[in-house]
Amino acid sequence: LTTTDLIEEHRICVCVRKRPLNKKELTVKDLDVITIPSKDVVMVHEPKQKVDLTRYLENQTFRFDYAFDDSTTNEMVYRFTARPLVETIFDRGMATCFAYGQTGSGKTHSFSFKQTHSCACFTQTARDVFLMLKKPNYKKLDLQVYATFFEIYSGKVFDLLNRKAKLRVLEDGKQQVQVVGLQEREVRCTEDVLKLIEIGNSCRTSGQTSANAHSSRSHAVFQIILRRKGKMHGKFSLIDLAGNERGADTSSADRQTRLEGAEINKSLLALKECIRALGRNKPHTPFRASKLTQVLRDSFIGENSRTCMIATISPGMASCENTLNTLRYESIRWLE
Ligand code: ADP
Ligand code: MG
Repeated sequence: LTTTDLIEEHRICVCVRKRPLNKKELTVKDLDVITIPSKDVVMVHEPKQKVDLTRYLENQTFRFDYAFDDSTTNEMVYRFTARPLVETIFDRGMATCFAYGQTGSGKTHSFSFKQTHSCACFTQTARDVFLMLKKPNYKKLDLQVYATFFEIYSGKVFDLLNRKAKLRVLEDGKQQVQVVGLQEREVRCTEDVLKLIEIGNSCRTSGQTSANAHSSRSHAVFQIILRRKGKMHGKFSLIDLAGNERGADTSSADRQTRLEGAEINKSLLALKECIRALGRNKPHTPFRASKLTQVLRDSFIGENSRTCMIATISPGMASCENTLNTLRYESIRWLE
């Protein structure tokens, strides 16, 4: 089975990427509790203790379309995840790729807003879109390429290409969703896209006391839109989701933090429902349950919609609980 076959068959591709233990984890001698015994299986070996204090490992197995171990490069992850979706948007379809996981597990590393990661998802997708545009079949369509970049934070939409302007989301009678005033910039080459990513990224973190703290609590949506004579031909959305760890929020004394956490929870649950519905061609899907799914509505419907989820996981024992949550969430297709 090739990657394209898999995507053709399921419309959803679900993958997991394990990152290596980082310096901090190595310093405190955290244990690597994740193994990837084959290219579609992830195992968690959680150290436990019986009542008589004897220690044992509780092993849990999860199956995915692809499991990438800690030696896998961004290039490789891209090739099996977003790359097969590039054709979709040239064939008048919608492609969506999510990075899901705990803060610090590698979402941004895999997708990347940083120019240094030239081999990450955003950049490679843009590069392949422009390469594809040159193919005779598509060249004759005379397509224009546009990009948008926005953030969803606490249920509100902010335009990262327009100094974080707060935008309204409207739904018309035909359930068409519109983000009013969202900047759509024409791009003519990969460098144009890189510049926009840089602008959006600096906008995303400016004025924040802690850049990572903020980015971990918002969903960042980057889109590449193909237009033909002004009309939408296809759209590729790449979404770096808010961190899925919630432990600290529910017990937090700070009201704002609790609200943020509840909002993230709500949107991630709605997303899961929408993706599951997509896999089964269910007509009634709870798009309105969150701003995230509402804004992405047109990417979930339609004959030619494809989605890929990349779950990133930390290998350490200290992250075990979050990792298990991520793996359970990602077992979307296996929960029939
Ligand atoms: P997240 O966006 O999920 O919060 P990051 O992508 O910022 O996490 O990753 C946290 C840190 O771990 C970064 O310093 C990043 O460079 C590093 N990292 C993440 N994934 C990998 C990987 N697969 N290989 C090497 N380093 C990684
Ligand atoms: Mg991040």
